[in-house]
Amino acid sequence: MLDLLSRPLAETDPQVAEIIHNEEQRQESTLELIASENHVSVAVRSANGSVFTNKYAEGYPGKRYYGGCVNMDAVEELARTRAKQLFNAEYVNVQAHSGAQANTAVYCAALKPGDTILSLDLAHGGHLSHGLKVNFSGAWFNVVPYGVERDTEQVSMATVRKLALEHKPQLIICGASAYPRTVDFAGFADVAKECGARLMADIAHIAGLIAAGLHPTSIGVADFTTTTTHKTLRGPRGGMIFCNTEDDYKLINRWIFPGTQGGPLMHTITAKAVAFGEALRPEFREYQQQVASNAKALAESLQSKGYRLVSGGTDNHLMLVDLRDVHPDLTGKQAEAWLEAAGIITNKNMIPFDERKPTQTSGLRLGTPALTTRGMKEAEMAQVADLMHQALSAGDDTATAENIRNKVRELCGQFPLPHGEG
Ligand SMILES: *Cc1c(COP(=O)(O)O)cnc(C)c1O
Repeated sequence: MLDLLSRPLAETDPQVAEIIHNEEQRQESTLELIASENHVSVAVRSANGSVFTNKYAEGYPGKRYYGGCVNMDAVEELARTRAKQLFNAEYVNVQAHSGAQANTAVYCAALKPGDTILSLDLAHGGHLSHGLKVNFSGAWFNVVPYGVERDTEQVSMATVRKLALEHKPQLIICGASAYPRTVDFAGFADVAKECGARLMADIAHIAGLIAAGLHPTSIGVADFTTTTTHKTLRGPRGGMIFCNTEDDYKLINRWIFPGTQGGPLMHTITAKAVAFGEALRPEFREYQQQVASNAKALAESLQSKGYRLVSGGTDNHLMLVDLRDVHPDLTGKQAEAWLEAAGIITNKNMIPFDERKPTQTSGLRLGTPALTTRGMKEAEMAQVADLMHQALSAGDDTATAENIRNKVRELCGQFPLPHGEG
């Protein structure tokens, strides 16, 4: 038995080993433009696959419900210390299993069922955990959406303020999944104060930029800041929550465990500690700067080919392409499929005031975190825009798609992914 348990995956389970191998090949040979994805380091993967997956550690450092937690305490303390240092924060909970779980804990801490949330409309860049009807947040709370303005396609604080004073929400949510512009956290904090609401900033997408000082911070400005750790931050899949006061910290800790979660994913927390350690190094700031520069370069290249970008450009790592000017009949769904056939991975996305359904859409969301991790720079962004335009113009022509697919393979070959065993 022990012998079986000690043998490599490829021997004991060739079926799964093959699927993993295929996924490695897929990631290696395609251009990853999904704004919420990234490629973690070998070190982060190694920690994530460590023996910490074997351990129950319900509770918090120094107050566990199980024996044998000495190393659990050490690694969770380290993750907390590094997270606080990275974001200049007072209090952090690093146990949230994901971004949605982090948000759930904040809702439980700040709201009662039936209370009112003011949050960004999903169709204008918001996240499903901010009040979509079929999500827990939309089912249990009264959700009032704010959108972007028709002319600027940006959030207007005057509109947010008007809605807040009219609907008197208990919680205001700022932060987004598909918003290419700077979020005015201080403006939101003023509105929250004026109408007596609490403020949650969800920085899931832009956490890396904030940590690097390239976007204004929400820490110390919003009552609660939630984030994922796997997007621009380039850690393992997971979430975390920052707050400013001891009282809120106690509430959040209670609502993560035992409120909404059981045992923490200690292997993930270990990998979070490693990722935060990487983010504290000077190279991480350079990486984030390149992510933002690459987004600008990709945006400009696409615009030079006639594509309209929502709000006219980007301040961060992502952009929303309105396909209609160049390809009036092309849906986001079809574009996503044609690009994938050429080895370019994107996701269809609603554009504000989209006439098409969410399953079709008129837009594509693109982000540069993953390509930048591979070492690509502005020159490659121009090439990527070129390849995208070729693929979208080729449409159903499979021979052309295959030709582009080969160019994509060649480009990927020049920028290999992190490799090796931890
Ligand atoms: C990605 C994202 C989340 C959800 O994260 P999961 O880890 O997938 O649960 C939450 N909020 C925003 C704004 C996001 O973009």
